[in-house]
Amino acid sequence: MTRVLVLNSGSSSVKYRLFDGADTVAKGLIERIGESGGDAENHDAALQRIMEETDLDGLAAVGHRVVHGGPDFTEATVIDDEVVSRIEALVPLAPLHQPAALSGIEVARKRLPSVPQVAVFDTAFHATIPPAGYTWAIDAGLAERWQIRRYGFHGTSHAYVARRTAALLGRPASDTNVITLHLGNGASACAVEGGRSVATSMGLSPLDGLVMGTRSGAIDPTVIFHLHRVAGLPIDEIETSLTRHAGLVGLTGENDLRAVLSRRAGGDPAATLAFDVYTRRIREYVGAYLAVLGRVDAITFTAGVGENAPDVRAESLSGLEPLGIAVDPARNASGAEVISPGGSPIAVCVVPTDEELEIADQSRSALLR
Ligand code: ADP
Repeated sequence: MTRVLVLNSGSSSVKYRLFDGADTVAKGLIERIGESGGDAENHDAALQRIMEETDLDGLAAVGHRVVHGGPDFTEATVIDDEVVSRIEALVPLAPLHQPAALSGIEVARKRLPSVPQVAVFDTAFHATIPPAGYTWAIDAGLAERWQIRRYGFHGTSHAYVARRTAALLGRPASDTNVITLHLGNGASACAVEGGRSVATSMGLSPLDGLVMGTRSGAIDPTVIFHLHRVAGLPIDEIETSLTRHAGLVGLTGENDLRAVLSRRAGGDPAATLAFDVYTRRIREYVGAYLAVLGRVDAITFTAGVGENAPDVRAESLSGLEPLGIAVDPARNASGAEVISPGGSPIAVCVVPTDEELEIADQSRSALLR
């Protein structure tokens, strides 16, 4: 049960990684699927290429990353026809992402019929959030009928990083409370109590919560009514604006934080404001999750920004010394795993995420259940 192929199928790309145990033995990216001059004509051709480029002998499982598991998929699940229909039924909850995952599953089942396939959901880790944490105070009948609630995303990353943080601190995961901050192109915060998610910042979709590269994060929903009614924008255009022309790109024209940081260093006012908005929002969630958890052992930064931007880490947690949270400047700059001063009541950590490794591990566990 050692070799597992992990597939992350997007609408125009397939990322793959072949594991032998925890070791990566092959990986690659098939891009611009369906475009002229792209790597493959469709998802079927993409998988054919992967099978030609890698040795898939003795494969124990294929693990598929699936964005939305809805209310019912609470753990990684071995795929059969019924599971496929249930994933299909969730397309309205993630119309941009779910169909690509389904294509990946369909072609992998067809081309590797004797290999068990496992769906690993971005939402599943958050299934332990209690009703008071996932329920919005809207008309209960509407919410029930349309499956409207907080689901949360980046679950494989938050789960992995929280577990690694406990290991780093030499504590059992079951008795470690961590606030995990996944800051990549997408970004979300999670309160993890004894290895279980109890609060997270993304909602029905990955638009809620923290400020992101191109997404607004949390806003007053009235902004949408106002843009529709007063500014006359159609609803699809508002969605595009909030998901693709907001966040850092909305404030500065740059979606890459590195560009924002370099303009800020040159005194650019828009970049300075964007940095302040971005880090303040993180601080607000840290404060909220301190209150949700009561006792916090560690705050952990991960993903592209969290792992590589010391200024973001320092500013996000600045002024929190009275709460037992501090960042040591030398440790923060040096690439250390623990960046709080020795003896801090709350450790501040930097832990590289590895969503594919977590998907491979969860796929193996699903087969053993
Ligand atoms: P994804 O969410 O697509 O997996 P990543 O986790 O790779 O993305 O994060 C990508 C983002 O990380 C980039 O947009 C960039 O803003 C940021 N990033 C990467 N390296 C650095 C760095 N050295 N300094 C600041 N930001 C960085």
